[in-house]
Amino acid sequence: MNILTLEHLYYSYDNGKTPVLKDINFEFEKGKTYAIVGKSGAGKTTLLSLISGLCKSSDGKVIYKGNDVSKIDREKYRSQDIGVVFQSFNLLPHLTALENVILSIDVSGIKMKDKKKHALEMLKKVELDEAKAKRRVLKLSGGEQQRVAIARALSYNPEVIIADEPTGNLDNATEEAVMKILKGLASEDGKCVIIVTHSPSVAQNVDVVYELQQE
Ligand code: ADP
Repeated sequence: MNILTLEHLYYSYDNGKTPVLKDINFEFEKGKTYAIVGKSGAGKTTLLSLISGLCKSSDGKVIYKGNDVSKIDREKYRSQDIGVVFQSFNLLPHLTALENVILSIDVSGIKMKDKKKHALEMLKKVELDEAKAKRRVLKLSGGEQQRVAIARALSYNPEVIIADEPTGNLDNATEEAVMKILKGLASEDGKCVIIVTHSPSVAQNVDVVYELQQE
């Protein structure tokens, strides 16, 4: 069964004057990895905003677990059901990796007995040990910051993880390490992992590739 379905999805900017997405029909299942590819300007970032509930479609539906996302509590959907890994990481650089993950749990509103223990577990999952977890983000490498961003997206245990160019600023070896983590989230933890990417090597490394054609 699909966890997420895009049904006849349309999106235009400027009150319909700039059509970007036209009749998009994509399906996503748990336990699989997906790449959304397309040339610059094809609408990848726009689609990510629609899937993650940051904006509403002009027409058509984003369906999560059988429910039209425009009709459910989008605040809750964004903060509990979908984990977004932003291209720019969006981490607070002066806080530690651990504090960034704990903050995300707090923002989600999900109650946890031992937030610190859970946050450390999520950081361990992305191969950051306790010493790294307690380091300020600005003292971590790009690849490590990317992994903190993934741990943060995982912090409230969403079933869907969507990552915007997760390997965009990384060298090849680091890209491989990050892809291994993202693939493991699907194959071992049963998450639905969606990656928005330019990278052909990333697209070759997923279960399903969806291409956005430029209008
Ligand atoms: P991609 O991520 O694939 O590069 P985007 O989703 O960022 O594509 O953009 C798709 C198209 O929509 C581009 O032509 C872009 O110029 C346009 N666009 C993006 N954001 C806006 C906006 N806020 N207002 C008007 N047009 C926009």
